Amino acid sequence: MESKETPTNIEFSNLAIAFKTKSDKELKRAAFLFRIMNQQWLVKLSTTLGLLALKLHLPFTKRIIEATIFKQFIGGTSLEKSEPAISKLAITNTATILDYGAEAKDTEADFIKTKEENIRAIQFAKANNSVPVITVKISGFARNELLEDIQKQVKLSPAHQLEYDALMEKVNAICAEGERVGVGIFIDAEESWIQDTIDRIATKMMQQYNKETVIVYNTFQMYRKDRYAYLVKSYEEAIQGNYLLGAKLVRGAYMEKERSRAEMNGYPSPIQDSKEATDIDFNKALTFCFAHYEHIGFCNATHNEKSSMLLAQLINQNELIKKHPHFLFCQLYGMSDHITFNLSNAGYNAAKYVPYGFVEDVFPYLVRRAQENTAMQGEMSREYNMIAKEISRRKQVLS
Ligand SMILES: Cc1cc2nc3c(=O)[nH]c(=O)nc-3n(C[C@H](O)[C@H](O)[C@H](O)COP(=O)(O)OP(=O)(O)OC[C@H]3O[C@@H](n4cnc5c(N)ncnc54)[C@H](O)[C@@H]3O)c2cc1C
Repeated sequence: MESKETPTNIEFSNLAIAFKTKSDKELKRAAFLFRIMNQQWLVKLSTTLGLLALKLHLPFTKRIIEATIFKQFIGGTSLEKSEPAISKLAITNTATILDYGAEAKDTEADFIKTKEENIRAIQFAKANNSVPVITVKISGFARNELLEDIQKQVKLSPAHQLEYDALMEKVNAICAEGERVGVGIFIDAEESWIQDTIDRIATKMMQQYNKETVIVYNTFQMYRKDRYAYLVKSYEEAIQGNYLLGAKLVRGAYMEKERSRAEMNGYPSPIQDSKEATDIDFNKALTFCFAHYEHIGFCNATHNEKSSMLLAQLINQNELIKKHPHFLFCQLYGMSDHITFNLSNAGYNAAKYVPYGFVEDVFPYLVRRAQENTAMQGEMSREYNMIAKEISRRKQVLS
């Protein structure tokens, strides 16, 4: 299905809507943070120092992080502590997707804790109308080496087979609970050397739990050259297998890591040759999902204005219900408010990915956000520019 330039009732440049729920103080804090994140050397220095200070348990470190970057990008240290952030989003008809932020864990005790926390998040979501989905990472339930071995089809030792069974038990328990109470489960995409394993698990879960509604969603990283074809194949398999496909579309977060590993090990990089090629495949994937929306429940997970507008236009052009449960737009908490809140204001299903967890657990996530927002060649970031514009717009309104 093609999109003509059909007018929508959205303008992402409407900053009054974008920052409606932000107080002047909150805007100033955000401006300060994004200005700091514009300085590459400062981001490098503060992330290294922050990591060291957390390791050494230096006094005030957590409090400083909590009052600054944590507040911008994280809902709270626990589900309960995230409630004010979730309620504030709900005021603007914006949904929350809960993301338990513990990363890089590698003991069975950690994996069990992550599973239990995810089950708690599902129950929390059931009790809260504005939380339709939670998100999980398969690497949160098993060692990376095990996931790699499965991908390489290495014959598993009995001990490793037990580990694999324990992983499947955890993922299955989460998806079963999601189905039981009607809460969706996004399975995040990760590095290509473990992604086949993740795909296999996600497919198994979709076969089992997506018979009537979409409960489980796999994630498709369109910065990979092979993912558009894989999306089409996944759809065809779902049709043949008589289940619905859940698809979260992203561009992909591990580009540098993917490229350097491919170079180091002498295999062709799976990543597209240019940003333009990634954009073309992302929008193609979006258009494909839209064309088959009756059989695909999908999430347009991006901060890209053009890709966000494309789906809004497709929905309008085809006169479909904006709130159809198979369409969802999503951005990360603390970023691209101009997209999320203008979409929710115009009546589309818009959501924020809201990570939560203790400062030491979510710190790697915060480092990625800081690095992502670091401007190239000293240019001011898009986020900073918009916040600065809104601050001066408010001053003009007052004067
Ligand atoms: C709600 C949500 C959920 C997410 N979940 C996941 C997930 O499960 N797994 C995951 O990997 N990521 C995930 N991401 C991150 C996502 O993959 C992107 O890294 C991030 O959103 C930036 O892409 P964009 O579409 O928002 O914006 P844009 O700024 O338009 O695109 C930036 C992206 O384009 C790609 N790119 C940039 N330069 C090049 C180049 N030279 N050649 C080829 N490609 C290039 C990269 O993927 C880069 O991240 C998620 C993002 C959101 C908003």
